[in-house]
Amino acid sequence: MRPQDQAPIALLIDDSPYIHRLLAVKLKDEGIEFLAAFSGPEGLELAEVQMPSIILLDVNMPDMDGFEVLRRLKADTRTMGIPVIMLSGQAKSTDKVMAFELGAMDFVAKPFDVHELRARINSAVRLTQLMRLLENAARIDGLTGLWNRAYFNERLEAELSVAQRKGGPISLVMCDLDHFKKLNDTFGHPAGDAVLQGFAQVLRQELRAYDIACRYGGEEFALILPGATIQEAAGVCERVRANVEAKSWRKYPKLAVTGSFGVTASGLSGLNDAASWIEAADRALYAAKSGGRNRVRLFDERLGAEQQPLRMAG
Ligand code: GH3
Ligand code: MG
Ligand code: MG
Repeated sequence: MRPQDQAPIALLIDDSPYIHRLLAVKLKDEGIEFLAAFSGPEGLELAEVQMPSIILLDVNMPDMDGFEVLRRLKADTRTMGIPVIMLSGQAKSTDKVMAFELGAMDFVAKPFDVHELRARINSAVRLTQLMRLLENAARIDGLTGLWNRAYFNERLEAELSVAQRKGGPISLVMCDLDHFKKLNDTFGHPAGDAVLQGFAQVLRQELRAYDIACRYGGEEFALILPGATIQEAAGVCERVRANVEAKSWRKYPKLAVTGSFGVTASGLSGLNDAASWIEAADRALYAAKSGGRNRVRLFDERLGAEQQPLRMAG
């Protein structure tokens, strides 16, 4: 989907060249950019490739009518979030009801007032942006900007089942900053917050675009690495670990921060569900802590057998 700071791009799907000319001319000065499709199939293809901010969709078109196009747009996860305004030559109530039932955001009868249409386009685009912001706000940790724990739980389930279906590797990492309580006590809570943000920054820098970095809680982070073997995941953790250890903290020159990492991955025994994955990564993290902190430990089955508490305090 297009970022909010760009001018909205509208896709017009209408078989009438007159409507295309009319809108192109009348809305040229309104800061709305137009993509043109003259049939349903052409429109569907453009929608998927260009991801417009909004779609204006004619009801009456030969071959594939607007309702069928709308149905297909809403059935495809890639295009279902794009708001659609239906345009129709007739303002039949049954058409309107059908359009809204299929998921249209608005319905405008032809001939339309261009100023009103522009206002409706802007309002639909704004509403969609707000809905997206709200959706994301519920999944993002406010301090670090990483995914939050609720989202982590959701994604871990989803990624584990994808990996199982496809048979590819996947790794899970739990990491926890070392002696963070002491850091807060010595340098103050704002310094602790800055460290959490700085750690998130290192994660963003070292992880691939399709890795999923989450703040699990407090000073604890969880990383889902789809497609990564345990060795690859260990390599990523080692880079993050070294990077954090070497990092200088602009406002706090005396600060030294380290973290401990526990890694688990597909192929190890006993990993049946999401909870057992988290427990295994947690046990490896515990081993990293008790082994002296500032290190990466891989889960192996022997860690699973030890009846020790799962975590250090917190
Ligand atoms: P260990 O090396 O064993 O992990 O020790 P630790 O001190 O890091 O672990 P502990 O769980 O005892 O302390 C975690 C501390 O993290 C306590 C809590 O006050 C602090 N903390 C949790 N959330 C935040 C936060 O959002 N900001 C700041 N500044 N501190 C936080
Ligand atoms: Mg800690
Ligand atoms: Mg902790």
